[in-house]
Amino acid sequence: MTAPDSRPVDVLTVAAVTQVTPSVRRVLLSGTEAAVAAAGPTVNVLVPRVGDLAPRWPHVARDGRIVWPDGAHGVSLRSYTARRQDPLAGEVEMDFVLHGDGPAAAWAAAAETGALLGVAGSGALGDRPAGWLLLAGDETALPAISRILAEAPPTTRGVALLEVAGPEEEQRLPAPVGVELRWLHRAGTAPGKSTLLADAVAALDRPAGDDVFAWVAAESAAVRTIRADLRGRWGLGRAQHHAIGYWRHGRAMSPSG
Ligand SMILES: Cc1cc2nc3c(=O)[nH]c(=O)nc-3n(C[C@H](O)[C@H](O)[C@H](O)COP(=O)(O)OP(=O)(O)OC[C@H]3O[C@@H](n4cnc5c(N)ncnc54)[C@H](O)[C@@H]3O)c2cc1C
Repeated sequence: MTAPDSRPVDVLTVAAVTQVTPSVRRVLLSGTEAAVAAAGPTVNVLVPRVGDLAPRWPHVARDGRIVWPDGAHGVSLRSYTARRQDPLAGEVEMDFVLHGDGPAAAWAAAAETGALLGVAGSGALGDRPAGWLLLAGDETALPAISRILAEAPPTTRGVALLEVAGPEEEQRLPAPVGVELRWLHRAGTAPGKSTLLADAVAALDRPAGDDVFAWVAAESAAVRTIRADLRGRWGLGRAQHHAIGYWRHGRAMSPSG
């Protein structure tokens, strides 16, 4: 039964789909100005099961809690990033990694114009402006990293460590001239099994001064290693870094899955 003070979730419609790289599918979604404004930067997406033409969407309670319908509903909750939001145009763009398993990756692989995606709540990226920026992430973090780089003041210096399968997965990311983009290729190692990102951070000397911020998102175990390095060897305080696991090797990301 639906809680009396809850409202229906916003539902966006797929307007176009582009294959950005072999494993990244960009989905352009359209919706009302308010729905698009509320769909990011990070966003809880409600993914209908592929082929389910009548998903039973949950509601959102006044306190933001998602209220699921009783029984089978055919909808999974996942976290994604709005790579670009344009509320006035009623457009939001999300990049999905086609990793081969899971409801969200399957939905994106099958998405066509007219398909529906629910959105229910959003969050911040967790970045902060700083004179020197370390960005470290895998394919799932590229939408966030592209936003952070695009919004960074032009005087920002630093390095972005970007782990992808190979050169075919590199994307063009406009960045301040003082931020070096370093692409790291897994070259056959499975995602979630590589130590590339952690090794690359371990090889970096801490920049001088305190005007430093590190933003890290990738597979959870890699992020744990990097977080420990940044807190220990680099001595970064809580306000100087944001490091969170974007996915877990061998585990679905949501209990509703
Ligand atoms: C704040 C936030 C923002 C995110 N933004 C994005 C984004 O913009 N684009 C994006 O693609 N992802 C993003 N992610 C990651 C995404 O939520 C996870 O990859 C999620 O697990 C995908 O759901 P699924 O239904 O496809 O797979 P799940 O059902 O969650 O998992 C099924 C299986 O697939 C594996 N798996 C999950 N993700 C990957 C992967 N990337 N590579 C290899 N195996 C994987 C799991 O280990 C599990 O074994 C974000 C995560 C967070 C927390």
